[in-house]
Amino acid sequence: MIVLPPLSLYIHIPWCVQKCPYCDFNSHAQKGAIPEREYLQHLLADLDQQLDYVQGRELHSIFIGGGTPSLFSSESIAYLLQQISQRIAFRDGIEITLEANPGTAEAERFVGYHQAGVTRLSMGIQSFDDQKLQQLGRIHNSAEAKYAVNLAKTAQFSRFNLDLMHGLPNQTIEQALSDLQQAIELSPPHLSWYQLTIEPNTLFASKPPRLPDDDMLWEIFAQGHQLLTQAGYQQYETSAYAKQGYQCEHNLNYWRFGDYLAIGCGAHGKVSFPEGKIVRYSQTKHPKGYLQGNYRYQQHEVGELDRPFEFFMNRFRLLEAVPKEDFLHFTGLSIASIEKPIDEAVKQDYIVERKNSWQITEHGKLFLNDLLTLFLAE
Ligand code: SF4
Repeated sequence: MIVLPPLSLYIHIPWCVQKCPYCDFNSHAQKGAIPEREYLQHLLADLDQQLDYVQGRELHSIFIGGGTPSLFSSESIAYLLQQISQRIAFRDGIEITLEANPGTAEAERFVGYHQAGVTRLSMGIQSFDDQKLQQLGRIHNSAEAKYAVNLAKTAQFSRFNLDLMHGLPNQTIEQALSDLQQAIELSPPHLSWYQLTIEPNTLFASKPPRLPDDDMLWEIFAQGHQLLTQAGYQQYETSAYAKQGYQCEHNLNYWRFGDYLAIGCGAHGKVSFPEGKIVRYSQTKHPKGYLQGNYRYQQHEVGELDRPFEFFMNRFRLLEAVPKEDFLHFTGLSIASIEKPIDEAVKQDYIVERKNSWQITEHGKLFLNDLLTLFLAE
């Protein structure tokens, strides 16, 4: 038996002004006008086919990601949210995040998004160094990034996130810390500070830039982490830092093995059923196929043997304790079924076992992959 976890909704908008050379997300450089209205209708038709997955739950959070969702007008976002609310009830105080690119920020848009019901903006700043931004193929510069953040504040967004990268081509410690310092001065309630990695099938993979070596990366992380902590940010996941009370509810639900509906090109979803079934699925990646009404690309059941790894894979990225009850409820498995790997993880000092929870240790954080391997199906 599974106790149904909270339900979120992810919406993917797959277009960008241009493709960044490091990006492996499902994003397509816009060629001509975006079929905005048509896409909205398809998103809703896609959602209509998933309403059975709701099973009486309210929506816990919505995340409109991409791509560049801020290419869509505030009227479109208002229409979309209003249509969704007619299909699924929103919980009181629902978090609704929209990803915005500083290069597409306009004052009216941000105000309009707020009026449409968006409660949180996530802005892809990446760096405040104009030369680095150019190397990253970004369409905005540092001044535009700061302008966008001020627009978000003027539009009354009390909750917003800045995405910032480190380990950029030829980046020095001073440059990385300067980026962080400039971000902190804008006092965002939430900061995603993540390391640039070279992903396959990107322009950077075919023409790799020179990245800082491992020692330098470690130094950047250690000093940057200290700077953030001193500025009042608490790390709650590998790359996520927030002021007290400003953690991202939507991502927390992913990491806590919650359920999420997924609509839009290439979106990934997960849904549980009380009788014990868990299904993962993904939608058609390319806008061409999706706009023809072929929404589902693939789906599979998560077997019982794979559930411990899937559950802990994301749970142990979070630095909070893992309630044993969540494992019982959301995987439908018994605690006895993972006795062996848990004992081994305790023995190796990767986790501490308490009466009602498991807590990852500092040692476990450093050896996360080894810890997770213990939960792989044999
Ligand atoms: S703006 Fe974001 S989603 Fe679009 S190409 Fe650049 S990194 Fe990828």
